[in-house]
Amino acid sequence: MGNLLVNTRDQQFLLFEQFGIEKLFESEAYEGFSKDDLLMILSEAEKLAVGEIFPTLKEGDEESCQFKNGEVTIPKCFRGPYKKYCEAGWINPMDSPDVGGQGMPHTAGYAAMELFCAANYAFCMYPGLTHGAANLINVYGNEKQKKTYMEKCFSGEWTGTMCLTEPGAGSDVGALKTTAKRLPDGKFLITGTKCFISAGDHDLTPNIIHPVLARIEGDPAGTKGISIFIVPKIRVNDDGTLGEPNDVKCGGIEHKMGIKASATATLNFGEDGNCIGELLGEERAGIRIMFQMMNEARLGVGMQGVAIGSAAFQHAVAYAKERVQGTPVWEMKNPAAKAVTIINHPDVRKRLMWMKAHVEGIRALAYFGAYCMDMSRISKTEAEKANWEGYLELLTPIIKSYSTDKGLLICSAAMDVYGGYGYCSEYPVEQLMRDEKIACIYEGTNGIQALDFVGRKLGQRKGANVMNMAGLVQKTIARYKNDPDLGKAAATLEEASNAVFEVAMFFAAAGKGGDFIAPIYNAGKYLDIFGDMVIGYLLLEAAGIAKEKLDAMYEGKGLATIGKKIGLQRENQEAAFYAGKIASAKFFMNDAVTTVKARCEAIKANDKSAMEMVDLAFTV
Ligand SMILES: Cc1cc2nc3c(=O)[nH]c(=O)nc-3n(C[C@H](O)[C@H](O)[C@H](O)COP(=O)(O)OP(=O)(O)OC[C@H]3O[C@@H](n4cnc5c(N)ncnc54)[C@H](O)[C@@H]3O)c2cc1C
Repeated sequence: MGNLLVNTRDQQFLLFEQFGIEKLFESEAYEGFSKDDLLMILSEAEKLAVGEIFPTLKEGDEESCQFKNGEVTIPKCFRGPYKKYCEAGWINPMDSPDVGGQGMPHTAGYAAMELFCAANYAFCMYPGLTHGAANLINVYGNEKQKKTYMEKCFSGEWTGTMCLTEPGAGSDVGALKTTAKRLPDGKFLITGTKCFISAGDHDLTPNIIHPVLARIEGDPAGTKGISIFIVPKIRVNDDGTLGEPNDVKCGGIEHKMGIKASATATLNFGEDGNCIGELLGEERAGIRIMFQMMNEARLGVGMQGVAIGSAAFQHAVAYAKERVQGTPVWEMKNPAAKAVTIINHPDVRKRLMWMKAHVEGIRALAYFGAYCMDMSRISKTEAEKANWEGYLELLTPIIKSYSTDKGLLICSAAMDVYGGYGYCSEYPVEQLMRDEKIACIYEGTNGIQALDFVGRKLGQRKGANVMNMAGLVQKTIARYKNDPDLGKAAATLEEASNAVFEVAMFFAAAGKGGDFIAPIYNAGKYLDIFGDMVIGYLLLEAAGIAKEKLDAMYEGKGLATIGKKIGLQRENQEAAFYAGKIASAKFFMNDAVTTVKARCEAIKANDKSAMEMVDLAFTV
């Protein structure tokens, strides 16, 4: 077994065997890269994650963030790793060298991100938000803004945030009350309070750059009237040096269940009437601009689901292979039977298998999103580009919600594997579970993601994105339908995908008939079902590739009998890995995908009990 965070062999499988990213190197965009380069870069990422960042996980949680006399301090142990992280260029490895990046394929960049996030997600909040803020300025800022703010953020000298939420405007961003008043020099006076701002205040860097959503006085209510402003914590002089504080005061930090080392701040802008902001992009385009950062953050939060789930799984497997408890079930009548490690108990083993299949599934889903970005970048025609971007648009709410919902269940299953010890802070799964839960809530709750999926994403490009997804799934089904080993899995996926697309039609018909509640009421369930189908597809693809490799190994060694094949899996890590990929697909298909049709029927039954029942009945 490798490290306790991420199965790097599975990462490599996805990159080079399933998505075949070597083909990217033939394009102008990625021609400077080779497989060896990426393997070396990922090995450096693993060293940094395991050797420097992971050791801050528990210490950061225990020391947590402090708020005293208006100042926020964060765990001291973050300083060294943060410096190394920035020096190695990990804030923006996927960006163009023009802005200090390495132009690395997103697929590989996401693999590195998974390692860092698995090591300590609270740590990753600081550089992650910094990238998002800097990238907003890169795309929408003017030259002066880029020079003043972007360069220092991409280098990590300063950090960034995203300031949307207010006490009365959470899911409903359009309800925000923060105002911007025009000044004669073209800048704006910002006044208002933002809450829950991650990395909102801290002592890690000397300045913090806040992209803030606010309404210019006189602009219309709702999201259409919102603009976005760059608001530095400390004003910046024309020569780039730090000037006066900018009247951005921290009103306090939250005491939270998890990611305790990430400072979640309440920020008061303009308490003394002296907070200056610069407009970013055009007036009233704030939501559209911020959506770039929100989409990036949604994929990042999806990665939180994957990475923490992965770390929980890796720890649980290691524990299950060591912990001796109970005798084997097949020796229950033997009083002299010896106790075995718990991985031998069918219930524990099946739980681990469930975790393995889901971790691999959500990893594949997240990396597929990154792969779509790479393919869009190298597309030769506008139509091709639109198709790749379409997959990503469609899948973003699924990557965010499905991966985080499942990530949390994976942490819970890991805790079950540890038994009572898992519930205690001596072992890391207790913290992993606490750190994971927020991923279901922030960056648009998973409920809001489901509404986005059903309300916007399904119908986007007149349904072309969904049709393209259906095409991918059907192609894979056709490829394996007659395979003696994978045919059953393909048939299960076929039945499920037919049911999934029927529900899409049911929603469309319900909407046309005036029943617009049906899709909204069932949005969360449908997102989950759609996610099961996409993951079934990705795991079946993986199993087909693994089977070819494994068969070639058997053939090369002249192994024909089951016994000899299993013998090889026992002594050869590669054979075991490929056999494990096939097992994951079969398990997932049997465990999750077989239930899809029934869940689709339940949606089509159009029960609306929760809507029909009166409020009082919830409590009486
Ligand atoms: C640790 C932490 C870090 C955060 N970091 C940031 C940050 O950096 N920047 C930032 O701007 N914000 C941040 N947030 C805020 C976060 O994004 C919000 O908490 C989240 O969007 C939900 O808003 P809310 O808490 O006001 O809940 P509400 O909007 O009140 O929602 C409560 C419940 O009602 C549901 N709901 C609400 N409206 C609807 C609707 N129309 N239809 C269906 N269901 C609905 C929600 O899904 C949820 O289940 C952070 C929050 C936390 C806890």
